Amino acid sequence: EAGREALSRLVLDIPDHPEPGVVFKDITPVLSDPAGLAAVVAGLTTAGLDEAGAPRVDVVVGMEARGFILAPPVALALGAGFVPVRKAGKLPRETHAVSYDLEYGSATLELHRDALAPGARVLLVDDVLATGGTARATAELVETCGAEVVGVAVLLDLAFLPWRRALGDIDVTSLLSIE
Ligand code: IMP
Repeated sequence: EAGREALSRLVLDIPDHPEPGVVFKDITPVLSDPAGLAAVVAGLTTAGLDEAGAPRVDVVVGMEARGFILAPPVALALGAGFVPVRKAGKLPRETHAVSYDLEYGSATLELHRDALAPGARVLLVDDVLATGGTARATAELVETCGAEVVGVAVLLDLAFLPWRRALGDIDVTSLLSIE
């Protein structure tokens, strides 16, 4: 529909970035467009609402780096807090860490040990869902704290990649599916 089409026009394909053969989705034009930014924040926010339109999350977790841009306005809209999940070595206090495989090599994500209360209801927010490895690792960190992942919300997903397999039955909200 119209909103999706407007959004897809603002997402640019960048061939061979960051390496040959990869088509990188550049979402920065969505962010610089006032209507695009508002639509994305509103769309991601719906993932944190119950059927009656009431907030169903206590915390919005954003993944470095573009999750840091989208998660805080969503948290504000939901009356929730914001917690960052960062790449290894960036958080200054004691952390939980999870390593996961990338196409070449591996990556480690960290979360402050005391960032989430046991039982906290958590929405994960990022820009792009590709293999699902980042969201899967983040969900593991959240669960390690005894908190509950109520869903993952992203601006766009790459439907030809196996993120659904990585995320099992976690509820996923994606504003734009790229076939
Ligand atoms: P995944 O872990 O394979 O699902 O990759 C998702 C993570 O990599 C997210 O944190 C994204 O920000 C980033 N990412 C992967 N592909 C793209 C892309 O085409 N555009 C922007 N970010 C991407």
